[in-house]
Amino acid sequence: MIKSVTFSGLESGPRLLVLGAVHGNEKCGTVGILRIIAEIETGTIGIARGQVTFVPVANPDAFSIGKRFVERNLNRYLVPTNNPTCYEAKLGNILCPLLASADVLLDIHSYTVGGEAFIFVGPPNPRERAFAASLGPHTLLTGWGDAYAATGRKVKSADDEESTGTTEYARRFGAIAVTIECGQHDDVAAIEVAYTSIRNALRHLAMTTETEAITPSTVPRVVTVTQVIYRDSEGTFPKRWKHLDPVTKGEIMACQADGEPIRAPDEGFIILPHAECELQHEWFYFGVER
Ligand SMILES: [Zn+2]
Repeated sequence: MIKSVTFSGLESGPRLLVLGAVHGNEKCGTVGILRIIAEIETGTIGIARGQVTFVPVANPDAFSIGKRFVERNLNRYLVPTNNPTCYEAKLGNILCPLLASADVLLDIHSYTVGGEAFIFVGPPNPRERAFAASLGPHTLLTGWGDAYAATGRKVKSADDEESTGTTEYARRFGAIAVTIECGQHDDVAAIEVAYTSIRNALRHLAMTTETEAITPSTVPRVVTVTQVIYRDSEGTFPKRWKHLDPVTKGEIMACQADGEPIRAPDEGFIILPHAECELQHEWFYFGVER
């Protein structure tokens, strides 16, 4: 069972879908969504235009046990299936029609390593970038597809849906779609980031009765991922990297087990470092500001 709550304004407008806890251990979106629902129900916020649908907990069983997923990552292979063979595939059959009918998707997550909040955006799309820029966090991250393609490690066939998650599926039907990473899973500040992003989304889309100005949107920093670095040996980091730590050209980002350093090819950023990840998995990413 999945709970969804929809509010429809009397005037026509966009259909916004807001998802929480696609990963069951990422609860900031759920808390932020429930707070907004309560404010709408008590009249603090009015929905004047369009339709907003909230799914506070997209993966309920994972949420109840505090785990990322039950059988597999819900944010992969997210396409409808005729004979769903696992729990998350069944959830996908409920979520996909919601994603297909959305004009705008805000998918709210948190992340393990911690650091500032940021937003994943897709290939350049002015409407999507403007929406992302309105949400609050200052950094937009993009370029994953090209960076992975450059590794040559994941050869995709046409029917391989592994990389289809909420945003990819929604964009197929013309939606603008972003994933916001509000901070570390247990950071209470992430809840405020989540809540504020929903308020800002409603304002940016002019869906509420609020007359005050939209939160002044800053020009966000766009960081493009240019390299995926896999952990091919028991290597180490020279220091305890945080997400979006800056590095200078030539700076040692990591050392392989044989001592061979991996240096920054340019001035840029360490992205989503995972020091102790399993061998052959993504160790960290490198990106540049463009
Ligand atoms: Zn997540």
